Amino acid sequence: MTVAKAFLKKNRKKRLEQGHPWVFPGEIEKIEGNPQGGDVIHIVNHVGHFLAQGFYNPLSQLIIRVITYSNEVEVDQNLFLQKIEQAWKRRQWLVPDATSCRVVHGEADFLPGLIIDKYEDVLVVQILSLGVEIRRQWVYDALTQIFNPRGIYERSDVPVRRLEGLQEREGFVDKPFDTKVTVSENGLRILVDVAEGQKTGYFFDQRENRAALKPLMTGWGARHGIKVEGDTLPVDAKGKTVKNPFWDGAEVLDCFSHTGSFMLHSCLYGAKKVTCVDISEKAVEMAKGNALLNGFLHRTEFMAANAFDYLREQVNEKKSWDIVILDPPAFAKNRQSIEGAIRGYKEINLQGMKLVRNGGILVTASCSYHLSAARFLSMLQEAAADAHKVLRLIEFRRAGIDHPVLLGSEETDYLKFAIFEVFNR
Ligand code: SAH
Repeated sequence: MTVAKAFLKKNRKKRLEQGHPWVFPGEIEKIEGNPQGGDVIHIVNHVGHFLAQGFYNPLSQLIIRVITYSNEVEVDQNLFLQKIEQAWKRRQWLVPDATSCRVVHGEADFLPGLIIDKYEDVLVVQILSLGVEIRRQWVYDALTQIFNPRGIYERSDVPVRRLEGLQEREGFVDKPFDTKVTVSENGLRILVDVAEGQKTGYFFDQRENRAALKPLMTGWGARHGIKVEGDTLPVDAKGKTVKNPFWDGAEVLDCFSHTGSFMLHSCLYGAKKVTCVDISEKAVEMAKGNALLNGFLHRTEFMAANAFDYLREQVNEKKSWDIVILDPPAFAKNRQSIEGAIRGYKEINLQGMKLVRNGGILVTASCSYHLSAARFLSMLQEAAADAHKVLRLIEFRRAGIDHPVLLGSEETDYLKFAIFEVFNR
């Protein structure tokens, strides 16, 4: 069987050569052969020089997605097995103590449109491309062979699949099993439901970012007027002995708390009190369950509320915290909605920073890949100007090590995470 060929235009930006894994319809001069949706196609330059093999989908704006830069390998079941094995080896090498992590991160693991997350002995698969969709049995077989999991669950319940001409799909790949899994992260136990939770159940991409909270959570006692002199017990401003062992810890507001992973880390690292806010009752219940599981219930409180309203109300009531954490969902789902999304990000950040005590901390994230890091930071600056605050950056971070980024593919670099000190102006 001869493989179809897509000839790219002579005068195009050399994105493919620069590591970008997609071809758009406008870049193609002509197609030789009669490829069907999902077929493997050879991508060649205008004089027919081989560039890569990819999955073809005429229904998608991502008309070809690169699967290999070699013209010698066969795109077969064995290639899928090898690629998944390599991706898993990379995690074992770079995140050796993680028993739960992202195993395959789509294009960045050279498996376009395939996400695989490992939750201890359970695997969750999300398929976002036609090329992988029609070969999904290869994926399941590879996972069974490599991991021998307790179960595989599919979470292809995302609207972007429609852009590939695919319906949403969710459910057990084989036999049903208990979808609740307790994952361990940075020494904490976190109960996740891979069927009910957001995305594939949990957000591994912030593992290292959550660990970065460690030094922030203590050192607040003196600011709360608590003194320790010599060997005596700490005393408050009124001279009363302070019995709370977490007297030096921060008071934290965790907005968009979902599983409560930021709350759990805050408590682990010594926070005095954490308030969790999420619009979903289910999410609030999950966070509460996780606080209980880790013995933190007495240092936490929970609110089912719209964060936009909640933040504004707290500002009106002149409430304040040492640390405010904002980890919202992606407000920008596509390029068209970016301006509205920025207004949303600005609003929560503006109110959030107003709630931070002078010299306190704002922890803020965005997982919209349509929002660049530069625009994220300029949005924060605009919010700070309006809120009469000055921000001093402690750390700017991205997604964790199991979410690799391809230079040349900004789409794989979606997570922005910043820690600021906030000063009054
Ligand atoms: N920080 C979380 C992940 C955040 S996911 C964790 O560590 O697991 C985004 C969360 O925001 C979801 O749980 C969703 O229910 C919640 N959410 C979405 N819109 C919201 C709103 N307007 N107000 C409050 N919570 C909202």
